[in-house]
Amino acid sequence: MKSLPNWMQLKDGFIDFAELAMELIGRSEDDPKYLKFAAVNAQVALELFLKYYYSKNGKVVEIQKKKNGIPQEEFIEHSQILNHYYAERKWSYGVKRELVFMMEARNSILHRAQQTGWSSELATSVVRTLFFIHSTWYSDFGNCLFERSYGKPQPLSRNKVWQTGVDSFVHQLSDLHDMEIRTCLTCKHQAVVAGEFFGLEGAEGDEYLVCLNCFDSIDIEHEARLLDCHKCGEKAYLIDAFNEQEHQLYVGKCSECGEDSWVRACANCEIFFHPEEGESELYGKYFCSTDCSDMFKEKPM
Ligand SMILES: [Zn+2]
Ligand SMILES: [Zn+2]
Ligand SMILES: [Zn+2]
Repeated sequence: MKSLPNWMQLKDGFIDFAELAMELIGRSEDDPKYLKFAAVNAQVALELFLKYYYSKNGKVVEIQKKKNGIPQEEFIEHSQILNHYYAERKWSYGVKRELVFMMEARNSILHRAQQTGWSSELATSVVRTLFFIHSTWYSDFGNCLFERSYGKPQPLSRNKVWQTGVDSFVHQLSDLHDMEIRTCLTCKHQAVVAGEFFGLEGAEGDEYLVCLNCFDSIDIEHEARLLDCHKCGEKAYLIDAFNEQEHQLYVGKCSECGEDSWVRACANCEIFFHPEEGESELYGKYFCSTDCSDMFKEKPM
């Protein structure tokens, strides 16, 4: 007698297929024939993920076949699971039409040997399917498919297929939530959002700014600070708050206008400021204002 896989087996399955889909997207840029393999793998990842979703939530019975009302050791069709999923959600990280399109693409690849050439619609859908899995897994279960990149951007960050998918997913996110999209200082792509809307393994929480293209992330509470830019006025001046240079200076750059003059931390109140906007100097130390240098003078040494 066959039995249904448990959620752990389903989890291992969708992670494997999603990772392989990522790898194949990378290869598809040089050789378009890999796109169809990426699509099939992303679709299998999606099917396993939705089964995981119901199993992990303790609702597997909702997607089991029934005989005379008795649940069988068999899942209903993926198309039925998809309908069920969308019937009970007010909103989703994926558009149903697109996930249906992925399912149809998979069928025409496997059963009719179609979808063999390049299709930018299919390429975008493959990437967005992976983002759907990642974001749903993160928001509903607190787990991540994608990891934060440290120093080195993730391998697909320069891949055009990937970037197009990222752009469309970021737009969908900004339709769902009222949010700002910033330019990434690492990959220059306009795909940085606040951690409250998107998380990565290693960068989970509101204190992060996360790039959906290269997975670079900054913890703006602990690793960096955001300051109003003294050129364009936007609150987009990122400061590398961990690495003090000589004379209380820190490297900084505006992700809006590109201005990159260094900023200083006041020797009294420790707040970052743009020296161009005025500062005060005393005993070889720098201050954000004369109030601060006066206060410093009166402090007992
Ligand atoms: Zn980036
Ligand atoms: Zn600026
Ligand atoms: Zn100060």
